[in-house]
Amino acid sequence: MKQLVFATNNAHKLEEVEAKLAGRIQLLSFDDIDCHDDIAETGTTFRDNASIKSHYIYDKYRVNCFGDDSGLEIDALNGEPGVYSARYAGQQGNHAANNALVLKNLAGKGNRKARFRTVISLMWEGAEYFFEGMVEGTIREELSGTAGFGYDPIFQPDGYDITFAEMTLAEKNNISHRAAAVAQLITFLNAQ
Ligand code: IMP
Repeated sequence: MKQLVFATNNAHKLEEVEAKLAGRIQLLSFDDIDCHDDIAETGTTFRDNASIKSHYIYDKYRVNCFGDDSGLEIDALNGEPGVYSARYAGQQGNHAANNALVLKNLAGKGNRKARFRTVISLMWEGAEYFFEGMVEGTIREELSGTAGFGYDPIFQPDGYDITFAEMTLAEKNNISHRAAAVAQLITFLNAQ
């Protein structure tokens, strides 16, 4: 069976992909390959950061692998928080502070259009492939809902009157940026 490393420390993401691989490819985690390196995400685009992760693993271990990068782009903030989504307010992963800063920076602005984007870089048999998913929406005036993570309580996808944080995980996974990118990756892999 072919093996594929997912360059992530996030067990939930790993499970999500594993469940869709239909047992045809063995998915390996960082632990499985004994990699405990901290890969710096120094890129200025999601594509760069996804590529940095997959190349790091490929160059060091010469295995098939993929990395992903996601975030929120807000039009009225010139695409911010973008690649800084996880640390927009300064501290890595402080979602409450990140949401508060977005609402502050958008105060009084009429255009609240935004999108979540995910880019996956796959190194497969020595070549690089990209897969991208996107979901368009608007930023609410206030937080709403408690499910999910990150910017979910302030993001309302187009065509809905609830935020990501008011959806079940299954509902969100139907339309999310990450699910769309992963679906393309899976279609590619299941054809190998
Ligand atoms: P990652 O690249 O998937 O780790 O995402 C980076 C950051 O983007 C996260 O820490 C969140 O702040 C934000 N983000 C990415 N995907 C989502 C999502 O589905 N909901 C809310 N926030 C997200």
